[in-house]
Amino acid sequence: MNNLSEVFKEKKLKLTPQRIAVYKYLKSTKEHPSAEVIYKALQPEYPTMSLATVYKALKTLVEVGLVQEINVGEGNFRYDGMVCPHSHIQCLSCGRVDDIAGFCFNDLNDTVKGQTDYEVMTSQVYFYGLCRDCKNNKKDE
Ligand SMILES: [Zn+2]
Ligand SMILES: [Zn+2]
Repeated sequence: MNNLSEVFKEKKLKLTPQRIAVYKYLKSTKEHPSAEVIYKALQPEYPTMSLATVYKALKTLVEVGLVQEINVGEGNFRYDGMVCPHSHIQCLSCGRVDDIAGFCFNDLNDTVKGQTDYEVMTSQVYFYGLCRDCKNNKKDE
């Protein structure tokens, strides 16, 4: 990870222990956790941090673009420390969310731009399926 205090300084963010903890956790995982999962994971090290604080830290980090908020449906928000554009696939059975790497949306954005007169800033595409574990479990049934 590049120097966290530099990144925060550039975004004019105050370096609070809560923000650092949440951001570091998201940078360390590929699992796209929900706020509750982040809260529970940080409990041992930050026993006084509340769920509301985790939400607040997440909101701030999303606002400055350090963290990506992913809405996988059912009002179920997940968080991602990888902010370059990439798409996601969610398992319909266990709910895990994975990155789909090497999949570029620039062509798609241009197509939409050509059809709508919009200046396309961003796009979100989600795929749904069964992860390997759930697929294997199905076979055993
Ligand atoms: Zn699954
Ligand atoms: Zn992701």
